[in-house]
Amino acid sequence: MDYFNDPLFLRQIIMDHYENPRNKRIPDDLEGYRSEHATISSCIDDLMIYLYLDNGEIKDICFSGQACTISTASASIMTVLLKNKTIEEALKYIVEFDKMMQLEEFDKDLLQEANAFKNVGKQANRISCARLSWQGVLKMIKGAIKNDS
Ligand code: ZN
Repeated sequence: MDYFNDPLFLRQIIMDHYENPRNKRIPDDLEGYRSEHATISSCIDDLMIYLYLDNGEIKDICFSGQACTISTASASIMTVLLKNKTIEEALKYIVEFDKMMQLEEFDKDLLQEANAFKNVGKQANRISCARLSWQGVLKMIKGAIKNDS
């Protein structure tokens, strides 16, 4: 059976990551970290996202702040998926996540628990919540690539 077609299962993933967010912390030492303040005026979402890149690889990724259920769960799942990935791999995840948000065909196997947001694309007002942390990371990665070249 395809669990990712079960709305109850998808809801459980989101609630689990909202109630027990993974990688929700401020780094002990911010030296070497990039950070991005990500907010949405139409929602309570107000997150700081921290990214530690080393040699083109995401060595650490975490977040702090206040946000709604969708935004918090999305940030939590994103940190799990992107940790220890290369920049190229991370970009692939971000592209596939955005395809899912636009209700296009996307790589289900790649996105794993992020499949929980596949119906969010049908609720226009929640799309920006789900995308918030991903876009924050994208901004930092683009900044890193720019600095390198
Ligand atoms: Zn929100």
